[in-house]
Amino acid sequence: MSRTVYDLIGLFAGICFILALKGLSHPKTARRGNKIGAIGATIATLVVFFYANEGSSLPLNNLGWILGAIAVGTLIGVPAARKVQMTQMPQLVALFNGVGGGAAALVAIVEYLNLGDTATTAEVIFTVFTVIVGCVSFSGSIITFMKLQELMTTRPVVFPGGRFVIAGTLVAVLGVAVWVVAALGTTPLLILAGLSLLFGVLFVLPVGGADVPIVISLLNAFTGLTVAASGYVLDSVLLIIAGTLVGASGTILTRLMAEAMGRSLFGTLFGAFTAKPQDTSGAAEDRPVRSGSPDDVAILLNYARRVVIVPGFGLAVAQAQHTVRELADLMISKGIDVAYGIHPVAGRMPGHMNVLLAEANVPYDQLLEMDEVNPTFGQTDVAIVIGANDVVNPAAKNSPGCPIYGMPILEVSNAANVIFLKRSMRPGFAGIENELLYDPKTMLLFGDAKASLTKVVGALKAL
Ligand code: NDP
Repeated sequence: MSRTVYDLIGLFAGICFILALKGLSHPKTARRGNKIGAIGATIATLVVFFYANEGSSLPLNNLGWILGAIAVGTLIGVPAARKVQMTQMPQLVALFNGVGGGAAALVAIVEYLNLGDTATTAEVIFTVFTVIVGCVSFSGSIITFMKLQELMTTRPVVFPGGRFVIAGTLVAVLGVAVWVVAALGTTPLLILAGLSLLFGVLFVLPVGGADVPIVISLLNAFTGLTVAASGYVLDSVLLIIAGTLVGASGTILTRLMAEAMGRSLFGTLFGAFTAKPQDTSGAAEDRPVRSGSPDDVAILLNYARRVVIVPGFGLAVAQAQHTVRELADLMISKGIDVAYGIHPVAGRMPGHMNVLLAEANVPYDQLLEMDEVNPTFGQTDVAIVIGANDVVNPAAKNSPGCPIYGMPILEVSNAANVIFLKRSMRPGFAGIENELLYDPKTMLLFGDAKASLTKVVGALKAL
């Protein structure tokens, strides 16, 4: 296969990736977009074998190792992707993303060793960039994975002088980078990789609770940039296109998520160092709360004119999306005006609630974004919060220094009545107490969301 044909096929795969992104921008076309992206990725992988087999300037050595690695990746990746629960998807994305960054860094190191003295200054600079960003992406993603999987605390990890240690490590990374470019050599490159791995860990540790999604998105953008830079080193137009797309879309997503959380990127990453110490022990307080039965909830709903359902992570855990739709349909059949209030970071991944409710065929026009639904809570008789906590927590407005301070919330406290469906008094992902649970207008219905909703549906039908 000639270089021109190879590049044209690469261009075709690149167009597939652009169409995939376009498709993914709307729930109705997302499935098609995903398939187009997968076709592009398959073509991009296969074309390498055919181009190289011609014995051209890019001979494909180590075919056995490559096929073996693909087999191992497939054996791990396919069952992992099939088995993963929807609620664990962000961890999987963080892990895959980190592995991508790490792989790009390894490829850059190997390519650097191959090029030896023949490497141009530009190639060395791109190699250094790939190693730094790829290693930061790898170790940072592993830490986000551990936070999301709750293998470590989800709260910000800060230690005295932390910001100076981070700044010092960054200066060391940059210093060694200059050393690699000036002196060349394997040892400085490996030191650079080690320091970058350390920086990735230090960089993500202080990010806590609600800000983890922003960091996942940022690291994802980093990985894209790494892939684009390794495309330059490997002389691959396709890697440059694909990496730039990931880098650009990841950057836009990071910006949008930071805006939705009412954060600057700097505040997200380093806010923990300036925050006031908080009681984030997460221990439930010994104060009275008003709890009710499914019958109490059904009566309240039966006499309501407008109800807003606020879904959160717990709805996904309980897999109660079909039952919540049944409840909504029942209320609509009784003439009640029903809408869902969707917070941009409800659940554990962007769009989590939209995907979950789409699974139960909830009509899109019933889903209201935060800006649309917030002004309507004043005219809402009942806000029913199902497995959500942080996204309705007034601490985001009232407690300067708390991990979610500044994040816009769904203003359910403006509704006449608030019902919480949750299993206990435990806090949400950010690990902070929610004052709204103690508000006199709040009624708690304890239990698994699906079981509770099933009982409420039964009680409402009987009225
Ligand atoms: P939260 O994590 O704040 O709260 C979830 C609530 O669901 C908990 O209070 C829990 O209480 C309850 N719950 C859990 N399981 C069940 C169940 N089976 N039945 C009933 N209730 C249940 O979720 P939110 O959606 O409000 O907020 C999302 C949080 O996750 C934010 O802090 C966000 O920043 C973060 N995040 C978001 C990501 C995203 O991209 N969307 C990615 C990563 C993190 P109890 O245990 O008492 O039942």
